[in-house]
Amino acid sequence: MIKPGVPAPGFVKRIGAIVDERRCTEFRSLDSAELVNRLTDARMPFGWTVNPYRGCEFGCRYCYARPTHGYLGHANPEEFEQRIYVKRADDGRLVARLRKARESGEEVAIGTATDPYQPAEGRFGVTRSVLEAVRRVPGLRVGITTKSPAVTRDLELLREIAASGEVMVNVSIASKDAALLRRIEPRAPRPDLRLAAMAELTAAGVATRLFAMPVLPYLTDGEAELEALFHAAREAGAREAIWNVLFLRGETHGFFLEFIGREFPRLLARYRELYAGGASAESAYRARIGEMAERLALRAGFPGRSRDDRIAAERPARRQQLELTW
Ligand code: SF4
Repeated sequence: MIKPGVPAPGFVKRIGAIVDERRCTEFRSLDSAELVNRLTDARMPFGWTVNPYRGCEFGCRYCYARPTHGYLGHANPEEFEQRIYVKRADDGRLVARLRKARESGEEVAIGTATDPYQPAEGRFGVTRSVLEAVRRVPGLRVGITTKSPAVTRDLELLREIAASGEVMVNVSIASKDAALLRRIEPRAPRPDLRLAAMAELTAAGVATRLFAMPVLPYLTDGEAELEALFHAAREAGAREAIWNVLFLRGETHGFFLEFIGREFPRLLARYRELYAGGASAESAYRARIGEMAERLALRAGFPGRSRDDRIAAERPARRQQLELTW
């Protein structure tokens, strides 16, 4: 149970000093017993997560991780992008956990609740240190999800890791429309820069995948727009496209609808209707988008699939791996 404005007991002693302040953003250190966390939820296609930071300066208005800042004592959802926590963990422990992950055969997902290449990475390099530890554990399966072309800084390291294991860089792009995304993802890099990074990674032999997520109802769900995105990602060398309709979990529901009311007021009633049932858009809408996205992805040359299909396909293997590991 989170008490508004009060850090959860497990976090009180871990929150450290302010280590930097820039652009109205405060950075604090956060001691972390484990940077590599086990995930026992068989609904996810990966078995381990690494989030080098808590909070994310990119500030996407739909970010489902925003409410997790409540555990750190932040009652105002805007603080997710203004108060960034920089994790610190023991290097030996990091390698030991990655070896355990390798034994399990399951993917380590880097950046499930924060962007590992947000601006803080340029100053603190936590993601870089995680990848350096990954290099010491050959044979690991790693997935990295980002909206930032800064991932290409680690291109040589990623190539090395790919040569002895498996790496997939999931580049998250909801639309090619930079002006629209600037309103919705205020500090995230432009989509053309993300596509250029995808092409650079591909040319260097690092596998990439398009995360066309979230599909934002009435904003990025146009057929021509999605088709242009899929084609651009395919041209940039992405091996696969995965999509998912906007999901509004917990407090993100109210936060995002308030944003829609302010920025796109003509859409508010339609959003209220579509999300009347809670976190998911109504099933008929999701089915329509799924059918369209699959058709467009195939037309662009992808073996495209929705996020749910990916999970369903990988779930039996996940279950078996969990049974063997635990
Ligand atoms: S980049 Fe990802 S983690 Fe960061 S605010 Fe956007 S959705 Fe959230």
